[in-house]
Amino acid sequence: MNEKINYDKILKELINNLDYKPKLLLHSCCGPCSSYVITYLKDYFDITVLYYNPNIEPKSEYEKRKQEQLKLINKLNISSLNFLDSDYENDLYREKVKGYEKDNEGGFRCHICYHLRLCKCAILAKKLNFDYFGTTLTVSPYKNAKVLNEIGISLANQYNVKWLYSDFKKNDGYKKSIILSKEYDLYRQDYCGCLFSKNRLKK
Ligand code: SF4
Repeated sequence: MNEKINYDKILKELINNLDYKPKLLLHSCCGPCSSYVITYLKDYFDITVLYYNPNIEPKSEYEKRKQEQLKLINKLNISSLNFLDSDYENDLYREKVKGYEKDNEGGFRCHICYHLRLCKCAILAKKLNFDYFGTTLTVSPYKNAKVLNEIGISLANQYNVKWLYSDFKKNDGYKKSIILSKEYDLYRQDYCGCLFSKNRLKK
């Protein structure tokens, strides 16, 4: 039987059983999505936000979203909150998704895109001695939490670092991220990130 896993419940159980404040490397796709996730997790984890999003195009948009991420971090003013930047490896992203350019959003191109970003997060989490790695991506109703968590756990096994299960859209997480984005005056983009998703909006 293919039982549906409640990733939100797994996270809540983990939080309830914590007896220390673990170090979390949190991959963030953008400021708006991370607004809710950071405010939710900040009391339980020492968070470092990893901005690794080589899928975001064009480069000017990538930079704009990064600045919004930094703006949010500054405004939140949490002493234990850190930021880790990464290179813009857009050529690598393009290489990885070759042949899947025409996929609909949510299709296999997106799974490759999730894997690329989470893989970087897992490798860095291991290298820099974080207790957990995770992602803000599950806050979006357009992202498949099951696929994201399955990628996360396979990378956790591969790199021997713990994955933070999540389904942040639960408990009105997405709605809360919209409210927080307004409160912190964050720019909210109208497309996912790659030019394939942007160009679809024009059709
Ligand atoms: S639509 Fe979004 S998740 Fe899918 S490949 Fe493009 S940037 Fe990545």
